[in-house]
Amino acid sequence: MKILKLPQELISRIAAGQVVERPSSVVKELLENSLDAGATEIDIYLKKSGLHQIMVVDNGNGMDKDNLKVSFLPHTTSKISSNHDLTDIQSLGFRGEALASICAIASLTIKSRVKDKQTGNQVILKKGKLSQIQSVGMAQGTSVEVTDLFKKIPARLKHLKSPTYEMKAILLTILSRALAHPETDFKLTHNEKVHFVYRKTSRKDRIRDVLGKSFSDDLFEIKSHTNNLRLSGFIGHPQIASRSRTKSYLYINNRPVLHPSLTSAIKKAYGTLLDPKSFPNFVLFLTIPTVYVDVNITPTKDSVSLSNEKEVLQFVYESVTKTLEKHNLMYRFSYQKSYNSALGEKLKKVSPAWDMRETTLSNNSSVISLDNVYLAVSTENGILLIDQHAAHERILYNQFKKALSADSLNNLVAPDNATIISLSASDSPRSKLRGII
Ligand code: ADP
Ligand code: MG
Repeated sequence: MKILKLPQELISRIAAGQVVERPSSVVKELLENSLDAGATEIDIYLKKSGLHQIMVVDNGNGMDKDNLKVSFLPHTTSKISSNHDLTDIQSLGFRGEALASICAIASLTIKSRVKDKQTGNQVILKKGKLSQIQSVGMAQGTSVEVTDLFKKIPARLKHLKSPTYEMKAILLTILSRALAHPETDFKLTHNEKVHFVYRKTSRKDRIRDVLGKSFSDDLFEIKSHTNNLRLSGFIGHPQIASRSRTKSYLYINNRPVLHPSLTSAIKKAYGTLLDPKSFPNFVLFLTIPTVYVDVNITPTKDSVSLSNEKEVLQFVYESVTKTLEKHNLMYRFSYQKSYNSALGEKLKKVSPAWDMRETTLSNNSSVISLDNVYLAVSTENGILLIDQHAAHERILYNQFKKALSADSLNNLVAPDNATIISLSASDSPRSKLRGII
């Protein structure tokens, strides 16, 4: 056995594997570069779900000839220059890996022109090597064209899914950036057909353009802050909750992120308003001082670690709860953490992991909330456990049946598992039916 130093080409290809998993990864990196360059117009062109061509054209700051010549080399970036900068990441990119990685597994043509120059420059890169550099006439900004993606890596090509799946992944990548940047136009052309155009607009209108009118009509705005933290955006009415997480968009410092404990905190705030199998819809933007945020934990930068996580989770939970309460969607007892009743003491001993809180009703009986999901009450025969969500459904179902019979519609039978989410205040029987799903 002999330990060898790998050749540079192989090093680049291995590194590229972590950054570019599929066509949507290329789209993501190019979009982030355009946004970092301050673009207000971004045009994306694709052919065959990105496998034949991905081209992103922006009107951002551009690169001069010297910068263009080094932009695609490994570990070259204009976004950070010192160790200290890593604790204050303001840009989407900073690892100086994207263009180099793409270059290692595809052919690349980059054109760029800065504001104060009459012409731009173009580099063509094939097989990771610069094959040409020349000046070109173009508008201010940058255009990056990627072709022959994974052509030389059959294993990667094999690992890709259907063109429809890859296209969906690309669409999701674009729309999650479009939601965060309503100040920028986004246009997507696929196989020479315009797929969508999102024009500069307000945040609320961008949500409507991207996620649809029915989604945006059922949103509540959130705006809250502490000394350190700020949360803004929109949360969905429980009646538009989804069976999957496809309509939950979370941003930290305007970067789309995956953060399971934050997503759980948001879901937890909905408590029993949601069926346990549903997920709330939201588009939430969290601003946290950069010193607390470490984005440098994965090459794709879509996960972050927060050194003040506990504080953030509590803040987000409370902000969502308050917003739901403000819209009369929640009624809460004022629970306490201490237990007056024997039942509370007993339960705590048996299941110390439950988040338990207790309240005393006017008839002096105690009600204990378990993880905001069940209510426990003491009865003559033992303990009665109530699933709050199911109980809420049952109450609404009974109200609904009563309302229907009052309207002489009692021969209408609701399906057994009907979830009645909201009843309209209007008298029309038709509007009362709207709430059944
Ligand atoms: P990073 O974004 O992490 O810095 P990249 O490999 O994505 O690394 O890009 C390298 C550098 O090329 C960037 O730091 C930036 O200076 C320049 N660059 C890339 N794309 C663009 C663009 N669309 N407009 C202007 N500059 C760009
Ligand atoms: Mg980048």
